[in-house]
Amino acid sequence: MIFKILAIAAVLFLVYIILFKKDREKNVTKKEDEKIEDVMVECPNCKTFVSKKEAILSNGHFYCSKDCLLKK
Ligand SMILES: [Zn+2]
Repeated sequence: MIFKILAIAAVLFLVYIILFKKDREKNVTKKEDEKIEDVMVECPNCKTFVSKKEAILSNGHFYCSKDCLLKK
């Protein structure tokens, strides 16, 4: 009887670990996606590297600032 309870507890514990692991893996992939979004691109005007998030996209080029975009 005690062994049965222990076996059930062990199974529940394994299920809990598997679910928890999946959640952790999801979080890891989310972080990787954020990393991919945060790609550094070179400003064609001043050759400064800026993250795509902060860069200004114009005609397929990423500019570091409005100044560079206007000076091109
Ligand atoms: Zn620039």
